Amino acid sequence: MIDEETDCHFCAEVRAVVACFGCGIPLCNLCVKLEDYGFGCGGGQILAFCPDCFQDPGVNTVLEYPEP
Ligand SMILES: [Zn+2]
Ligand SMILES: [Zn+2]
Repeated sequence: MIDEETDCHFCAEVRAVVACFGCGIPLCNLCVKLEDYGFGCGGGQILAFCPDCFQDPGVNTVLEYPEP
């Protein structure tokens, strides 16, 4: 998903492992916030957000819609 040599754009100290689903910045596993979008369908989809997007209802739509 992202370059292996990319540092986390939030703390800039740890190598990034995932990109934010909202804004796309690289995040390490310490800064990333995971949201479970798997409502009632058994499987579940985990999306990664940066701390800013995680708290933004306009980006983290799990806060607004009961179904994806
Ligand atoms: Zn980080
Ligand atoms: Zn973000």
